[in-house]
Amino acid sequence: MSIRKGINYPYGIHVPDKKQLTCDKVIEKMPAPKKVYVSMSQHIGAPAIPIVNVGDKVIKRQLIGEASGVISANVYSSICGTVTAIEDIVIGNGQKMKFVVIENDGGEEQQFFPPMEDFSPASLVERIRLAGIVGLGGAGFPTAVKLSPKTQLDTLIINGAECEPYLTCDYRLMLENTEDIYRGIKYTAQALGIKKIVMGIEANKPLAIKAFEKYDDLDVVVLKKQYPMGSEKHLIYCTTGRKVPCGKMPFDVGVCVQNIKTVIAIKHAIDDNKALSSTVLTVSGDGIKEPKNLRVQMGTPLEDIIEYCGGKLDGTVKVVAGGPMMGKAMTNTVAYTRKTDSGFLFLTQKETSLVSSSNCINCGVCAKNCPMRLMPMYIESYTLAGDYAGAEKYGAMNCIECGSCAYNCPAKRALVQSISLAKSKIKEMKTNGK
Ligand code: SF4
Ligand code: SF4
Repeated sequence: MSIRKGINYPYGIHVPDKKQLTCDKVIEKMPAPKKVYVSMSQHIGAPAIPIVNVGDKVIKRQLIGEASGVISANVYSSICGTVTAIEDIVIGNGQKMKFVVIENDGGEEQQFFPPMEDFSPASLVERIRLAGIVGLGGAGFPTAVKLSPKTQLDTLIINGAECEPYLTCDYRLMLENTEDIYRGIKYTAQALGIKKIVMGIEANKPLAIKAFEKYDDLDVVVLKKQYPMGSEKHLIYCTTGRKVPCGKMPFDVGVCVQNIKTVIAIKHAIDDNKALSSTVLTVSGDGIKEPKNLRVQMGTPLEDIIEYCGGKLDGTVKVVAGGPMMGKAMTNTVAYTRKTDSGFLFLTQKETSLVSSSNCINCGVCAKNCPMRLMPMYIESYTLAGDYAGAEKYGAMNCIECGSCAYNCPAKRALVQSISLAKSKIKEMKTNGK
């Protein structure tokens, strides 16, 4: 056993964590809905291609969407039933994507992979690819690709920070599925040929720290409670002292970072021969009657989740997919659970700010709060002027979209939205060779 304190990182903010709404709520398994809407875009990269047709009968964990490239992922049915539609739907965050709609027939049959016989790194990675596992912390990057680096890495870091306010699903999993996490970690390290395993957990989760104390081969690092401690670059620095330079990736400094839910999915794919077909998320905020941590089948309608949690209260003014800092505000409640979901928040007037923005007063608070040491106000000005090259010069591409700049902006500028727009325009310019 080794437990040590993380390295101090001086830039970060303190936000009320509001985790008390759900941190003691044991994960409940929500009954499968009458209909699931399984998205073909549950990952970064090309959408999966549906391989079923309307009218087909499917069983749980049957492949229904095939990865369409290296940066893509397989998608499996989460229930038994009949495919009733394959259609494009615009969800509440404005994204349009293809869904396979399955009507539940109440069946319990499941498909499993054959038991693993060979536990070589190549076989482990292939099983992880087959199971459709992607970064479940929100990134959605195919895990099999992340576990196939071109150079040998030396450290595996497990992200147990869960620094976003309200969210407690990783915390509950650390308490309730400790052994599954440990086994998933060991398989991940085996796939990478790594011996050194570091687990970073924020100091506000003493029970989770205690739960992992018993494993001799884990180096548990107690991190300062600070936002955005869970961002890869900050986690790597605070646990190992290594700095990932601008424009570089964790593998450039010999590190692979994995999320709690991802290693559990790896455990289930290898030990239990199961493809990824459900996820655990937090439903919280003062606007939901019964905040909960839930295990839900992939493709469960958000409306069903709201009903299961006792309903939305009258004072709800904002619904957010994800945490309040990095999540996306939704214009309506059309959403269906996907692999990368971490939660849905129902926020009242008191918990959110609906004040409209005013002119920037050049106070510099956003720059002071930026953990990446950027000057968000300048990036925003260039973006609003349509000068994306100027925004790039000020480091727009290094923005991790953590929301710290906007959090304390007295003028309530929509800084993250502007920077995010600049990033996509810069990528577009590069693709077009400009
Ligand atoms: S915090 Fe807001 S008002 Fe202050 S400089 Fe930044 S954008 Fe301008
Ligand atoms: S500029 Fe980007 S990285 Fe910096 S605080 Fe704002 S969102 Fe976070």
